[in-house]
Amino acid sequence: MKKHRFIFSKESKARMAEYGSENELNRKAAQSDEQAKRPQEAAKTTECVVPPAASAGTAPEPAVPEAAGPFAAVSRTDVGKMRANNEDSVIMGKRLFGVADGMGGHNGGEVASACVRDTLLTLLDDKEPDPKLLKRAIIEANRKVYLQQLDNTELSGMGTTVSVVWVHDVSMYVGHVGDSRVYRLRKGELNQITDDHSLVMEMARSGMITKEEARSHPMRNVITRAVGTNTEVDVDVLQVVREPGDVWLICSDGLHDMVEDDKLRELLLDRSIAKAADLLVKEALDAGGRDNVSLVIVRDAEGQG
Ligand code: CA
Repeated sequence: MKKHRFIFSKESKARMAEYGSENELNRKAAQSDEQAKRPQEAAKTTECVVPPAASAGTAPEPAVPEAAGPFAAVSRTDVGKMRANNEDSVIMGKRLFGVADGMGGHNGGEVASACVRDTLLTLLDDKEPDPKLLKRAIIEANRKVYLQQLDNTELSGMGTTVSVVWVHDVSMYVGHVGDSRVYRLRKGELNQITDDHSLVMEMARSGMITKEEARSHPMRNVITRAVGTNTEVDVDVLQVVREPGDVWLICSDGLHDMVEDDKLRELLLDRSIAKAADLLVKEALDAGGRDNVSLVIVRDAEGQG
């Protein structure tokens, strides 16, 4: 099943109006001048280089952090069973971990997700974790992707989700745009930490449909926020206190669309994160592998004391 994403295109506006979601459009239109001006002000500086083709298969193995207390991370990315290309990028820094799920014609999705990965790692991974810095870096990544497609009609319409965790001494900072997800397994309970910026989940949050209906809704792949599709981006940044034993799962919809939360929990419980990562990818593929499957798992052994 080929995904169709509409990011405030004419189609999405028509659809959102149809579903009574004009408030979202109005809210975005009223966003602060500061954020709206930023892309133009900074337009002289760098662009991302077009990356090599995204690789399928297993991504780099665990980062070995030194500065933020003991934790370990693994990642996997797989092209899946239906797609020709892998448009996802995994983000595996020293303290910064996540996924970006690109979209757009030609190789635009790969370019967009890789651009965001590279921008965030460059701007953040050697810095002291800070929520404002995280937000600014995602806004800067948005600017780079947006400018790049202005210069290249083949990349027109490209964009990407991004969901990252940034490990600080006692806190986990979460940065998020789009419908990739951050989950946390704590004391056996799995919680989705991020809100999906998708049309169906906004409909579910407003009570128009149930979460169960959202899960099988034909428009469940329509996202309402993305990085790089517009001059501005609305970024969610959260701060969560770390607890020993927490397990964080950051994944693209190629995993969470194919595998129910209960199954994610079951596969994360009581095993090594490397084994869990393998089992999660296998589960998504066995369920049909309709999309690229990418995930990062971080196991936290640090707490407040
Ligand atoms: Ca996807």
